[in-house]
Amino acid sequence: KVEIREGLVSIIVPDLSKYIVGNRPEPAHAPVFYNPRMEVNRSLSIAIINGYVNYTGKSNIIICEPLSGTGVRAIRYAREINGVSKVISNDISERAYELIRMNIDRNGLSDIINVHKDDANNLLLRIAREGGCDVIDIDPFGSPQPFIENSLRAIRDQGLLCVTATDVGVLSGKYPIKCVRRYGALPQKFPYRFEVGIRILISTVARYALSMDYGIRPLMSFLDGHYYRVCMLVFKDRAYALETLRNIGYSYYRPSTLQRGFISGYPIPGVNRYRLSGPLWIGNLWDAEFLMNYFMKGTRDYFSSRAREVAGLIGEEALGPNIPYALTTEVGRDLGRELPINDVISIIRGLGYQAVRSHFHVKGFRTNADLLRIKEIIMGK
Ligand code: SAM
Repeated sequence: KVEIREGLVSIIVPDLSKYIVGNRPEPAHAPVFYNPRMEVNRSLSIAIINGYVNYTGKSNIIICEPLSGTGVRAIRYAREINGVSKVISNDISERAYELIRMNIDRNGLSDIINVHKDDANNLLLRIAREGGCDVIDIDPFGSPQPFIENSLRAIRDQGLLCVTATDVGVLSGKYPIKCVRRYGALPQKFPYRFEVGIRILISTVARYALSMDYGIRPLMSFLDGHYYRVCMLVFKDRAYALETLRNIGYSYYRPSTLQRGFISGYPIPGVNRYRLSGPLWIGNLWDAEFLMNYFMKGTRDYFSSRAREVAGLIGEEALGPNIPYALTTEVGRDLGRELPINDVISIIRGLGYQAVRSHFHVKGFRTNADLLRIKEIIMGK
């Protein structure tokens, strides 16, 4: 075991240099899971939850993390989020449970963090019976699907539900049948397939919520390497459920015209000519006002440069239109040279349309311009 510092806390984690696969450490092989790359996920979650506390004006919030691993996330939440009265940490593994307890003691946080050794679904059902909590963070191996329903039970009205999914390949079209089985939606390998994946993930939560007469609204969503992260408000309100239903539909894409977009309607509407993916979330992936006025203020200088970079990229992207991103290769095909993304954005803005970079892809941008026309202009240059 080794001691590491992350954010404002110091914790004991397994020595990853003992678990090398190929030439890289493999956190999943260690007796308790700790992935240093997930610092971005944890730090940005701190910014989101701090922003949520200010946005809602709530105080004395209760946060639950049912899949805690080493406890690093729960411990950071207790130390780095304002207005927290209690953090509930839990892991089914005995070794993880012991390590979490040790890490809580080291940081002197045993009066704020309660730790349990239970199955996450059992814990969530118990919390639901005992009055619920304000923030639930589901950070599993792979898919969060097994924990969504009980998280919705355990969360309070206007609570914040955050989920991580590391099965990006499944959601973004690599294994379509698996996605249909696991998430009840058909992905497609559209040029913007990473956006399709995150929208399928959000709509899965939305459909569980709808079945319980609840609604959801995403505050922040992002892709960072091997995982998706979505944080959404949950409204335990039938009227809001109807609003949520309007945000479920399909995405269409037509290669010959580069047209892409969303159609509302669920189940599947009659559309031909286009390839369709869904059902998926067609509403906003983020709340631009929340990001600008609350999330950005929740970021800290001590976050890693990668975390601050992702925050900045999403802050900019959220100002763009709710239209799937396009790739520079789509509008500059057969040009015989690489087309810099900043040039594409300048050309489009010069024509009076919106254009912003997309964090989903290094060559991705979001625009309300007609892409075929942009392609003609670029190819004619
Ligand atoms: N959230 C942690 C972090 O930020 O470092 C990482 C958690 S790790 C990806 C997933 C954890 O879930 C593992 O420690 C595993 O033991 C635990 N786990 C798996 N299935 C569980 C279940 N049904 N109930 C509770 N814990 C479970």
